[in-house]
Amino acid sequence: MDSRTPRAVPDGDTLKQLQTARSILQQSRRTAVFSGAGLSAESGIPTFRDPDPQSLWARFDPMKLASIEGFNANPQRVMDWYDWRRTQLAEVAPNAGHIALAEHRELLHVTQNVDNLLERAGVAPHRIHHLHGEISRNRCVAECGFEQEIALENPPGLVPCPQCGRQVRPCVVWFGEALPQTVWQAAEKLCRRVDCLLVVGTSASVYPAAGLIGLARECGSRIIEINPAAGEADPAADVELRGGSAQILPPLLHGLQLQG
Ligand code: NAD
Repeated sequence: MDSRTPRAVPDGDTLKQLQTARSILQQSRRTAVFSGAGLSAESGIPTFRDPDPQSLWARFDPMKLASIEGFNANPQRVMDWYDWRRTQLAEVAPNAGHIALAEHRELLHVTQNVDNLLERAGVAPHRIHHLHGEISRNRCVAECGFEQEIALENPPGLVPCPQCGRQVRPCVVWFGEALPQTVWQAAEKLCRRVDCLLVVGTSASVYPAAGLIGLARECGSRIIEINPAAGEADPAADVELRGGSAQILPPLLHGLQLQG
C-alpha cells in the first residue's frame, strides 16, 4: 500500500478514540514515536511475529539467520537472507503512516525497525534512534570500526572488511546482542521526558526495547497505541487505536501542531 491507497471510513468508536487521542496529542508539550515492524507492514515489508504466514519468523528460523552463532555457522546463508530483505526494501515505498509522521518534523523517533522508510518519507536521520540497527549498513564482524552505507538494490554480498580483512555483517542487532549503548541511552532519556508516546505497530514483546513503553508511562507520559491487534502494549495504553497505521496516522495527525 502507498500514500494513494484509499482509506477505510472509521466507525463511530474509532472516531471517538481518534478524538481522544488528538486531544492528548494537542496538549502534549513533548511527543515522541516508538515504532515497530507494523509501521512498515502496509509498505509490503513483513513483520516478524504476526500470525500471518508471511511473517518472517513463521517462515525462517531466527537463530539460524539473526544470531552470531548462525552467522558463524553459515555466513553466506545469513548474508543472502539480509540481501534478499535489502532488495525487497529497495522495491517498496514509505506508506501513508510514514508520510504522516514525517510531516511533523519536530517529532523524535525511537524505532525497532531496521528499514529506512521513515528517512525516505522525509524524517531527518538525526531525529531517529534505530534501537536495532540499520539494514542499509554493513559493519565489520570483528568490530574493528569499519561501517558503511550500502546500496540496497545492489548489496555487496559477503565481502572481507577493507580495514582488517575479517568479514562484514549487516549492521543490525541480533538475538543475544546488546543494543548500541549511545542509541539506547538517548532513547531512554527521551522516554523519561515525553508527555505523550505514540506507540505504533509493535508487539511490544522484544526487550529491552519494549520496556521503553513502561518507562515512559512510569515517568508520567500518556500512551497512544496504534495496532490492528491486541497485544502486550495494551495495559500501558491510555488510548488504543485499532487499525493499520497507514489508515490511522493520517487522520490522527492531520492539522495538529505537535511539539517534539
Ligand atoms: P513484531 O513482528 O513482533 O510485531 C509486529 C506488530 O505490528 C504486531 O503487534 C502486529 O499486530 C502489528 N501490525 C501488523 N500490521 C500492522 C499495521 N498495518 N499497522 C500497525 N501495526 C501492525 O514486530 P516488532 O514489535 O517491531 O518486533 C520486534 C522486531 O522486529 C524488531 O527487532 C525489529 O528490528 C524487527 N523487524 C523489523 C522490520 C522492519 O524494519 N520493517 C521488519 C520485521 C521485523
